[in-house]
Amino acid sequence: MIYLDNNATTQVAPEVFAAMQPYLTELYGNPSSAHAFGRRMRTAVETAREQVAKLLGAGDSSQIVFTSCGSESDNWAIGGFLEQNPGRRHLITTRVEHEAVRNLCEHLAEIGCEVTWLEVDRNGELDLDDLRRALRRNTGLVSIMLANNETGVLFPIVEIGRIIRENSDAVFHVDGVQAVGKIPINLSDWPIDLFSLSGHKFHAPKGVGALYIRRGVELPPFIIGGGQETGRRSGTEAVPNIVALGRACQLAREFSGHQQIRGLRDRLEDEILANFSKASLNGIADRSKRLPNTSNISFAGISGPEILTSLDEAGVCVSTGSACNAESREVSGVLRAMNVPYEVARGAIRFSLGRYNTADDVDRTLKVLPELIDRLRQS
Ligand code: PLP
Repeated sequence: MIYLDNNATTQVAPEVFAAMQPYLTELYGNPSSAHAFGRRMRTAVETAREQVAKLLGAGDSSQIVFTSCGSESDNWAIGGFLEQNPGRRHLITTRVEHEAVRNLCEHLAEIGCEVTWLEVDRNGELDLDDLRRALRRNTGLVSIMLANNETGVLFPIVEIGRIIRENSDAVFHVDGVQAVGKIPINLSDWPIDLFSLSGHKFHAPKGVGALYIRRGVELPPFIIGGGQETGRRSGTEAVPNIVALGRACQLAREFSGHQQIRGLRDRLEDEILANFSKASLNGIADRSKRLPNTSNISFAGISGPEILTSLDEAGVCVSTGSACNAESREVSGVLRAMNVPYEVARGAIRFSLGRYNTADDVDRTLKVLPELIDRLRQS
């Protein structure tokens, strides 16, 4: 199998598995217990919190709260802010957020919030003047992703954060789920209040994420109960997953193969665009404005799900967009927001590489594609 779907999820790194394994077996204590065995778990949880804070450049680790996934972090950040500030019901977000933000904001609009949706252009980029115009005195929260999961397009969130700070009192939430582990993050210096991440996108297991809550930003508890996570998210801590997330953060900090991933992605993208007459890139061509691992390419006139199935039969795993809408026959909402014509958007395939991909994976994918695309065109 050739796995080119790392934006959907990633393999648990062997080092991460080794770190969590004892906590699934003999180290089963409860971090809230007063005995030495429990205190050992507490130490493991706090070490992981520091490892997360370090990767994010977040300074004080008490600003990190563990959650179960990126969707939870997003829901808590946005929903919690509104619960805390019922009078500040104007939200700003973009048309290309992940469903965890987009569908939540649609729901909030239905129940009485005012949501301003920022449009993107054909490259997937925002017009920051639109943001300036949208900000108002009563704007409560702005939620904008750092890296788009389907196209890899990066939003200039430092500049966005500055615009928000200069023009309003709004809280700035960033969905960083696709960026963590792929590009450097520095929350101490960036004007961001809330930042979501998810472990399974960078070699930790599924079922663990985190929300960074800048000191001074008040959010109500996400789960009320025994007061774990300093009362902000009760429930006995998922120690094995938390230890795994910490180790994955440490591995990401030590990782030196980003250039290799970028090189493989560039070659895959260049070869496809050069060799398929009807292939076109979705997202800005300037690669410095995209994640180093992602290429979203349309094969106009063919259906993406059919390409996906044929690649799957050839042992290559890709996706047509967000893993969450893989069952849907509709074209991606992100590509629609980018005004990609239907016949082009329909043929979109997302290739997302990761640390375990090799040059051979790219060679073999490039080898199977021509015949497969020819066959689909003829049929
Ligand atoms: N935000 C973005 C940008 C994502 O890509 C994803 C997952 O694909 C999520 C949020 C949701 O993360 P999780 O699967 O951990 O709930």
